[in-house]
Formats: sequence, structure tokens, C-alpha cells
Amino acid sequence: VKGNFTKNIAVYDDSLHDREMLEQQLIEDFPAALREKQFDVYFQPKFDVRPEKPVMCSAEALVRWKHPKLGMISPGIFIPLFENNGLIFQLDCYVWTEAAGRIRDWKERLGITLPVSVNVSRVDMYEPGLVDLLRELCEQNGLHDGELLLEVTESAYTGNSEQIVEKVRQLREIGFRIEMDDFGSGYSSLNMLSTLPIDALKLDMQFIRNAFKEKKDTRLLEMMIRLAETFRVPVIAEGVETAEQVAALKEMGCDIIQGYYFSRPLPGADFETFMLENRPA
Ligand code: C2E
Ligand code: CA
Ligand code: CA
Ligand code: CA
Repeated sequence: VKGNFTKNIAVYDDSLHDREMLEQQLIEDFPAALREKQFDVYFQPKFDVRPEKPVMCSAEALVRWKHPKLGMISPGIFIPLFENNGLIFQLDCYVWTEAAGRIRDWKERLGITLPVSVNVSRVDMYEPGLVDLLRELCEQNGLHDGELLLEVTESAYTGNSEQIVEKVRQLREIGFRIEMDDFGSGYSSLNMLSTLPIDALKLDMQFIRNAFKEKKDTRLLEMMIRLAETFRVPVIAEGVETAEQVAALKEMGCDIIQGYYFSRPLPGADFETFMLENRPA
């Protein structure tokens, strides 16, 4: 036991050190990465499953980092890091600009209008220039209301909730639609839900995972969907991978589904092909 214990400590120390080194490196590399366009925006479709045959209704923009030395880095690594180091707003502005440009390009070149949601970090919500920047981005690209959707994670509402609710209200007033991301993972009270200005609830992926493992979790998922219905907002399920999950979620009254079952997140050019094959009627 003793041997194991010391061994674990050693491993822990090493990996902690490695982790810090990696993080330091990523922070240092950020400015050049942004300049050299190492960040790439992928798109994953969302399907409306209310009609008999599911219809693609929008897409989510997800960032990837093609690091010249480290290869492809997952946002799960660098997003939390950049949130803690004052870099996230710069990165998100880049992603939003790329996404807005794509929406415009698809309209002009392909004649397809597909709303795209972008992730807005909890940290971005405190940027004084946020509302103006987003408004200008839409103006510059000739986007109409609802063409650029904003995913704001539930945890954003827990800090200074009054300030966040006010920001969300302003954004909606100028035409943005807001989806609450990772719903159920945080602490928004039911009481708060009834006053929140939001346009869709996106269930935390973990609920879907659990619901197909444990009976009691299935009931929890059903309750969450009922809850959304009470507040008359559409429910989005993400991380949906199988036909069985799609059928069950549909049965429970889930409105929109995103996940590997329909498609993994795709690079812009590949998504374009997917879109042409699945173009909304
Ligand atoms: P999220 O916003 O909750 O995004 C959903 C994540 O689930 C994405 O991971 C997506 O690729 C993954 N996913 C989708 N369908 C499936 C599925 O069927 N099965 C499984 N196992 N996974 C699925 P990704 O792209 O690695 O992003 C991770 C997180 O990083 C995102 O979670 C979001 O919080 C953050 N993120 C990604 N792009 C951005 C961005 O541009 N800005 C900000 N602020 N955050 C971002
Ligand atoms: Ca999201
Ligand atoms: Ca999510
Ligand atoms: Ca429903």
C-alpha cells in the first residue's frame, strides 16, 4: 500500500507539472495562433425532430486548434484555460466573426439560410463591448434576427445573475435568440427559470448519457423536458449518438437533436457538402 501511495504521488506531481507546462505554452502560443489562423471553426448540425422526417434547422459552431507542434487540441483543454487568463473574448470574437462570415457566404453562394449558434463564454458576458460588437457583426454581414444564435451556459447565470439577465435582455431586444447551454448541470433555481429571458433549453449531455443507463435518470430527463414545456421553450438534446436515443427523446417530447447520430462536427467545407445533401426544404 505504501509503495503504491508514493508512486501515485510521484505520478500526480509529474502530470501536474506537465499540465502547467502545457498550459503555459498554450498561453504563450495564443497570439501567434490567432494571427496565423490556427483556430478552425467546425459546424455540427441540429435537427428538428418534430416532423415525421427530421429536418436540419441550424448548426453549432465549435472551435478547434490545429497547433503546429502539438497537433489538434480539443476546446475542452484550451477554453477553460483561456477563460481563466483573459484570452477567451479575443478567441470568441474570432469564432463569431468566422461563423457570421460563413452564414453570409452560404446565403450568397449557395442560397441556403441556416441559423448558426455560437458559444458565448460566461466570461464574455462581462465584456462591456459585447452587445455592440455582436450587433455590428450582424450588420456587417447583413444577418437578420435569429440567424446568429447565442449559446450561453447555464453557469453564466449563477455568478452575478442580475447583470447577466440584463445583458441577455439587451441582446434579445436587438434580435438575438439565446439558448441556455448545459441546462441542468448548474444551479439555476426553478424560480429563476420562470423570469429568465431565453429562447431554448439545451440539456446537458450528461442527462442523456445517464437516462439510457438508469431508470430513475430516464424519469429525470422526462421531467426536464416537461419543465421546458411548462415554460414554453423548445428543448434541445445534444450528444445523441444512436437511433434508439433519437426515438426515445422524440417520444419524450424533445424538439431538437444534435449529436454524432446525425453528424460529428465538420470542417466548413465538409459541412457545406452535408448541408447541400440535407438542405432544408
Ligand atoms: P458544448 O458547447 O456543450 O458543446 C458540445 C460538445 O459535445 C462539443 O465538444 C461536441 O463536439 C460534443 N458532441 C456533440 N455531439 C456529440 C455526441 O454525439 N457524442 C459525444 N460524445 N460528444 C458530442 P467540443 O467541440 O469538444 O467542445 C467542448 C466544449 O468547449 C463545448 O461544449 C463548449 O463549452 C466549449 N467550446 C467549443 N467551442 C467554443 C467556442 O468557440 N467558444 C467557447 N467559449 N467555448 C467553446
Ligand atoms: Ca454549446
Ligand atoms: Ca452543452
Ligand atoms: Ca415538446
